[in-house]
Amino acid sequence: MSQPALDLIIAALEKIRDKNDRAPRASRTALARLQEMPLAASLREARTSFTGQHVQAAGNKADLLGAIRERVAACTKCAHLACSRTQTVFGVGNPDADLMFIGEAPGADEDQQGEPFVGRAGQLLTRILKAMNFAREDVYIANILKCRPDMPAGSFGNRPPTPTEMQTCRPYLLEQIDVIQPSVLVALGAVAVEGLLGTRAAMREMRGRWRTYNSIPLMITYHPAYLLRNQAPSEKRKVWEDMLQVMERLELPVSERQRKYFL
Ligand code: SF4
Repeated sequence: MSQPALDLIIAALEKIRDKNDRAPRASRTALARLQEMPLAASLREARTSFTGQHVQAAGNKADLLGAIRERVAACTKCAHLACSRTQTVFGVGNPDADLMFIGEAPGADEDQQGEPFVGRAGQLLTRILKAMNFAREDVYIANILKCRPDMPAGSFGNRPPTPTEMQTCRPYLLEQIDVIQPSVLVALGAVAVEGLLGTRAAMREMRGRWRTYNSIPLMITYHPAYLLRNQAPSEKRKVWEDMLQVMERLELPVSERQRKYFL
């Protein structure tokens, strides 16, 4: 086996080890087969040979996401949310997306339609994507929580998810990220950051800065709902500057018009 292949396999194993209590194991037969294979085949095989992991074989991301979606649709781990939801809201977009957005939880509109970011905040996100020259179908959009946080009977609006709810649902999001393997992640708002990284801090300290999740660059920016509440041009400009950083990280061309753009 070539050195680059070996390096990549070691990196994949380290990633697996970081996420699991038990070290990854491979059978002697699997190792022998890897030794004999050319680079591309070795990598494909490595992704499927190590037991007990959810690392994907290339080319079937949609199927893998479909399997996770089915488990989510039947999930009752949060009994109170399973009772109150209209449906689960799994995620939407391109399984091969380079760019993945992470929000906090479905609201009333999303709960009704079964798709994340379809309410007013979602429409603003779609406008932001358009300004970046993306369609919604080009990127992947998901939330930390797949069920709408329940509200007391007769009350309106949405509530943020609790830390326990996020902890319970988080593994599904991590599986989605594992399958999609985007080049860049964007966390929308402090709750998304807390759900993904377990870090709690003021958004004014976190936004506009690169972090990493599992070696994937992660940009933190305001949730579109924040921009709907706070219409100050300076806040909108901050989000746009964060998106310019994302475009640059993805090595996308940025026009002069885009540089001067205000949401
Ligand atoms: S929020 Fe997530 S973990 Fe809880 S019931 Fe819904 S899908 Fe399951």
